[in-house]
Amino acid sequence: MTETTPIIAIDGPAGSGKSSVSKEVARRRGFGYLDTGAGYRALAWHVLARGAETTDADAVLDALESFDLRLGLAPDDRSVAVGEADVTVAIRTPEVTGSIAGFTRVAEVRAYLNAIFRRLAGESGLAGVVIEGRDITSVVAPDAPVRILMTASPEVRAQRRGLESGQDVAEVQAAILRRDASDSHVLDLAEADPGVDVVDTTDRDFEQSIDAVLTVIDRKLGGQDGR
Ligand code: C5P
Repeated sequence: MTETTPIIAIDGPAGSGKSSVSKEVARRRGFGYLDTGAGYRALAWHVLARGAETTDADAVLDALESFDLRLGLAPDDRSVAVGEADVTVAIRTPEVTGSIAGFTRVAEVRAYLNAIFRRLAGESGLAGVVIEGRDITSVVAPDAPVRILMTASPEVRAQRRGLESGQDVAEVQAAILRRDASDSHVLDLAEADPGVDVVDTTDRDFEQSIDAVLTVIDRKLGGQDGR
């Protein structure tokens, strides 16, 4: 990561508002936007497309050799490809979502993906890059000038996801809690690291959540980006 690319590191669980808020914040500040979850999803897709199991660590490590991830930083272009295959829609299926946990504890896999994320942000030449995920404030960019943990109550997160997907809210909440538990090794929702600003969106709508994040960014960057 070069010193000339300020990183806005944003972590949070599913339904916290992290993705939509991060994207909009990047748009308004003219920053890039990097969705690391899409990288994890694309790798799961790639492993499955090779006919392998994501729980087979050796098979996942083998798959990394041919993992040609194409992930752009433009907040308005959310397309994701692996080689020539457009996987934008495929990586959001329940099959892919449910298979990611198979390899998220494999340290070599995380290190490989983190190197890709750091390279994409560092080589961007942009005035800033918002990187969102689960371990951005702690592992990917612990020295970032802005580090934010976005949270919301499980009930509110389930309502948001239920509204988006049309699924039963109780079922969505159970799925969200299962995902929190399986992600707890990378994201501690109960306690943010020192220096991380917590933005709780439980009682904030979209616009208020954006304002809260922009307030932290402006305070931390202190007008570095010319605003
Ligand atoms: O953010 P999204 O829901 O797309 O992420 C999908 C999954 O990828 C998460 O549930 C988590 O298991 C994994 N992930 C991760 N570290 C990140 C981003 C995502 O382990 N930085």
